[in-house]
Amino acid sequence: MAHTIVAGNWKMNASKNAVTKLLSELKLGVAAVNNAELVVFPPFPYLAQAQAELMGTSIGIGVQNICASAKGAYTGEVSLAMAREFGVSYVLVGHSERRALFAEDDAQVAAKYVATQAMQLTPILCVGETLEQREKGLTLSVVTSQIQAVIDAAGGASFANAVVAYEPVWAIGTGLTASPAQAQQVHKAIRAHVASIAPEQARGLKILYGGSVTAASAEELFAQADIDGGLVGGASLQADSFLAIGQAAK
Ligand code: PEP
Repeated sequence: MAHTIVAGNWKMNASKNAVTKLLSELKLGVAAVNNAELVVFPPFPYLAQAQAELMGTSIGIGVQNICASAKGAYTGEVSLAMAREFGVSYVLVGHSERRALFAEDDAQVAAKYVATQAMQLTPILCVGETLEQREKGLTLSVVTSQIQAVIDAAGGASFANAVVAYEPVWAIGTGLTASPAQAQQVHKAIRAHVASIAPEQARGLKILYGGSVTAASAEELFAQADIDGGLVGGASLQADSFLAIGQAAK
């Protein structure tokens, strides 16, 4: 694997002052992050500020959601072309909060994935099971069916230009983290599922783990064979914890 990706999903948390503080601290600390690509995912109103403040740094910018349609009568939505004007290179698609709170289904997620790639941006496809599904032994079938919905729409070869994030729903924002072994089992199954259709793309595919990742849990998670980085929510809002997670990549 070339490098680890550590992505910070700010969710709906920011203010102009908080963005300035966080990004200036990240800029000061990023030189000590040697083996990870840091990417921040601010809310849309702060993209221009993030682009200006991160200009010339190695810290990338992503968005938390996008509209699959190109333009027109979609009140309240933001297009990929708009996001791209602000230096965005990654797009989260299918985050569990979008699936659960905004009723995004596999077909909508696949449409966003396809549209993102069509604009030469990289989708980070989020998949993961609920606690109930895990307790029923459905984890691998849920996750592989979420991946398959995208394979059906975009083909296996599309994974050459995509990132997957495995985020067990029960671990997001709860303080519960999948153990490294639990996470590795699912990551391995995701890679194997993609490999059954697109072996070469599966070998190079980056699969991030997300779910209450902290500086304390990151090193062991990132040491797993099929874990290529993290999608970090709460711990990405403070520069010291986000940088420490970046430094956990060896
Ligand atoms: C997330 O938002 O994708 C996430 C994993 O959040 P947290 O790290 O807070 O669980």
